[in-house]
Amino acid sequence: MKKFFALIMAALLLAATPAQAQSSTVHNADNAAELAGAPVEKFYASLPKAKGNYKSRVRPILIEGAMNTETEVLIRALKNPAAYRELNYLFVAGTYENYPVVVVRTEIGMANAAASTALAIKKFNPVAVINQGTAGGHDPALHIGDIVIGERTFDQTAYKSDYAAAGAGVDLTRQEMRGAYAYDQTSGTFKTRKEYFPDATLLKIAKDVAAANDNFNVVTGVIATGNIWLSNIDYISFLHETYGSSCEEMETNAAAQICQNAGVPFIGIRVLSNNITVNKEYVPATGTIAQNFVLLVAEDYIRDVLKK
Ligand code: SAH
Repeated sequence: MKKFFALIMAALLLAATPAQAQSSTVHNADNAAELAGAPVEKFYASLPKAKGNYKSRVRPILIEGAMNTETEVLIRALKNPAAYRELNYLFVAGTYENYPVVVVRTEIGMANAAASTALAIKKFNPVAVINQGTAGGHDPALHIGDIVIGERTFDQTAYKSDYAAAGAGVDLTRQEMRGAYAYDQTSGTFKTRKEYFPDATLLKIAKDVAAANDNFNVVTGVIATGNIWLSNIDYISFLHETYGSSCEEMETNAAAQICQNAGVPFIGIRVLSNNITVNKEYVPATGTIAQNFVLLVAEDYIRDVLKK
């Protein structure tokens, strides 16, 4: 039934996506997702409020989404939900497949993703973190509704530009990607780190779920993160060709960095809501596709790893 629903959703979204959109992607993104997510606020406000500290015999899975359109399916899937607030971030703890799961609405952007991930790690002590949501395509072969399992993620804004003299113009491609600072287990210090890789078990389960469910179009690829929405196709092509980026979004790398610092297994999974390289406009409702896929990943992870 769930699979059938995902298939119908994907078909509707694809049908609704204009083939040749104008280059107005950024303007549409300004409030499309907020409008789509507005009625969800009422539902979230109606959730029972947690009393006291979180208690669980086993460590929960933490699933992250930035916006209402990226969290509603997950939160509705939780049994016995209880809402927590920390520094105004919303965390909903419950169970899924009889196993504890916490969903956090990280809010948009890297600092929010990092802060809410750190708070969740301290508060809920998760056994693993899945960051998921929408993304924009860097790869012209990817369609709206396609899922990218992040086999790697990097911060596309963490570069040092080459020197260019006054008046020489701006060439963004003259840069060296550096990464931000993360805890390095070997040296016990914080060091620049260019990229993060997913937990091998989570990656394998996500790939297996993809192989077993052909109603989802799934690739493994590279997630580029930054507090930035790129619409410059030459620069996007440069990132795609130089660093192999499949898509861009604003949270995955930041959450991965905090999980690296804390030593918590991590994976990022994204659905394409737009792809300017082939003129596909922003469709925030694609958020449901990633959530339905991630629920299947959580289900198998619970069954095959956590309950064993
Ligand atoms: N506030 C607006 C914009 C949201 S778009 C709205 O409500 O419509 C930014 C969010 O979508 C981020 O969480 C980011 O992770 C994701 N995203 C989707 N496509 C993106 C793209 N092409 N570039 C950057 N972020 C993108």
